[in-house]
Amino acid sequence: MYDFRFKKKFGQNFLKDDSIPNKIVSFSNIPNNTLVIEIGPGAAALTSKLALKAKQVLAYEIDNSLEDILYEKLSSFDNVDIIFDDFLNRDISLDISKYSYDHLYVIANLPYYITTPILMKIIDSGIVVDKVVIMVQKEVGDRFCAKPKTRDYGSITVFLNYFFDIKKLFIVNRHCFVPQPNVDSVVLSLERKNSLLPLNNFSFFSEIIRSSFQYKRKNLKNNLKNYDLAKIEDILISHGYSLSARAEELPLEVFVEISNKLND
Ligand code: SAM
Repeated sequence: MYDFRFKKKFGQNFLKDDSIPNKIVSFSNIPNNTLVIEIGPGAAALTSKLALKAKQVLAYEIDNSLEDILYEKLSSFDNVDIIFDDFLNRDISLDISKYSYDHLYVIANLPYYITTPILMKIIDSGIVVDKVVIMVQKEVGDRFCAKPKTRDYGSITVFLNYFFDIKKLFIVNRHCFVPQPNVDSVVLSLERKNSLLPLNNFSFFSEIIRSSFQYKRKNLKNNLKNYDLAKIEDILISHGYSLSARAEELPLEVFVEISNKLND
């Protein structure tokens, strides 16, 4: 019906039917008076379901050639705004400042090539998001939800778990998409924690996490050799670890303590 060609470079794998979008919306439990941000509405499979539950949907779509499809499929809704632009280049605080709402949710079937940059953008923008419900590549979901002492536990796990309680909601088979991707997907819920562990310096905390995991096979003594190792050792010992431990063994609280101790 439309002269539309899928663009691999934009991560365009669209959901084929209504069942998955309905399931995402039902698992999201969208409260009254919620502004939902969607990244990548595509052909509106999810957007049209979100619009039935949300007070307002604000969608960002990078691909202008989806304009006709989106405007037509969403013509019966007066609570959907679409910004045709790269989400990563937007001033999100400014974009949402014109809406009044009680809750802010991000719900999206993400373009997988920029999953982490999108989450970083949301965190860095400083907007207070109550809940993020996203579909991501299954392996990426495993990393976000990983527990210490497992292969998937890494810097992104620690970083995201600082802000959110992360849960896997359900797996989505690759057959549910057109074109079909080479991987299965998972829908995750990231719920903002009620209280965040106090941090003296957030950018230093990010730096410590990155350095700790820099060389996966090296222990903390090596990865953190440019910092005050005596102070780090004190904290590690108080939690039952030593400098020969690897970053993947440490829970979030220990990274927070190390960061604060080096910055007090
Ligand atoms: N939501 C639709 C669905 O579930 O069928 C489409 C999801 S598809 C995986 C990802 C969508 O994100 C595509 O429509 C793509 O054009 C869009 N996209 C890719 N990069 C983007 C960016 N930087 N900013 C905004 N949208 C982007």
